[in-house]
Amino acid sequence: MGGCVAQLQGTAVLDRAPQVDVLVGTHDLSSVPDLVRRARAGEGRGVDLDRRADSFDVPDSAVAHSSRVRAYVTAIEGCNHVCSFCVVPRTRGAEVCRHPDGIVAEVRSLVARGYPEVMLLGQTVNAYRYGGVDFAGLLARVDAIDGLQRLRFTTSHPEHVDAAMARALRDLPRICPYLHLPVQSGSDRVLAAMRRGYTRQEYLDTVALLRAHVPALALTTDVIVGYPGETEGEFEETVSLVEDVAFDGVFVFMYSPRPGTAALRLADDVTGDEKLRRLQVVNTMQQRAQEGQNRSRIGRREEVLVDTVTGEGRVAGRTRDFRIVHLDGDEGLLGQTIEVEVTAAGSNSLVGSRSQTSH
Ligand code: SF4
Repeated sequence: MGGCVAQLQGTAVLDRAPQVDVLVGTHDLSSVPDLVRRARAGEGRGVDLDRRADSFDVPDSAVAHSSRVRAYVTAIEGCNHVCSFCVVPRTRGAEVCRHPDGIVAEVRSLVARGYPEVMLLGQTVNAYRYGGVDFAGLLARVDAIDGLQRLRFTTSHPEHVDAAMARALRDLPRICPYLHLPVQSGSDRVLAAMRRGYTRQEYLDTVALLRAHVPALALTTDVIVGYPGETEGEFEETVSLVEDVAFDGVFVFMYSPRPGTAALRLADDVTGDEKLRRLQVVNTMQQRAQEGQNRSRIGRREEVLVDTVTGEGRVAGRTRDFRIVHLDGDEGLLGQTIEVEVTAAGSNSLVGSRSQTSH
């Protein structure tokens, strides 16, 4: 068992769950092989909850990527924010930025191994700063790597979006016009209670800045419904924000209390049924909006990087703005960028047919 819950609950897990052989927290990934080997050899249950930030040192050749097409590369570990509902600062600790040379070297090695696309990762990836290199500077360095076709990053925090980042999105050729920018709520009172660090208007201003630079930017977000004390009116403010921004995707979550968070002290007073209703309101509205957005693409040509075999004779890939496109094809197309004409659309994906191979 590994990750945030292991870090937070520690060895208490071992008492509760006799089936757990190895318990690893959020930091010491390099100890995993040894702990597993010792557990297998019957040398006892392995535990490592140290907070040494060594995960940057794991050799990239030892990292298994779930896709042959898109590789994930850590840029920052931890988070300096203090959102009231989130366990991450407690489990993963403060932000630690990785040396840009290490990031560039890992991306180069991935490109050499055939990965066309890289996604830079961090809880607040756009807070990146290492010495004189800010996030836009890091993007410029990675974007310049020969052979890389597409560059993405996630998750961005609204507070760290600045003009330099917007210019990077506009000007760097490999960066895709897609951004995940969690808003969580459209109500100023709830945003303040969540300690998100921005108001509704500031979030809208950030979106406006980004769209002024990249008009076709696809934007997705996260929303929490039923935060403690969230009134119907406050929920409606979230609904109107989601409508106003016209997101390309919204991930809606029902609030649930997490151990060790500030919000745990608040009464979880929105009923389960009401949370579910609010979730469904946002989802239904968003599905309708996405269907309209996607239908407007029918007839357009899109550059699709094929990343999945979905069934017999069928594959799927992503447009540059991260929309899923299904089309005829086989495993041989994996990792290829092809031009596709969109022929049909649903709320969550497009259907296309191949017009010609671009590279
Ligand atoms: S929600 Fe994101 S920004 Fe807020 S504390 Fe958690 S990881 Fe950090």
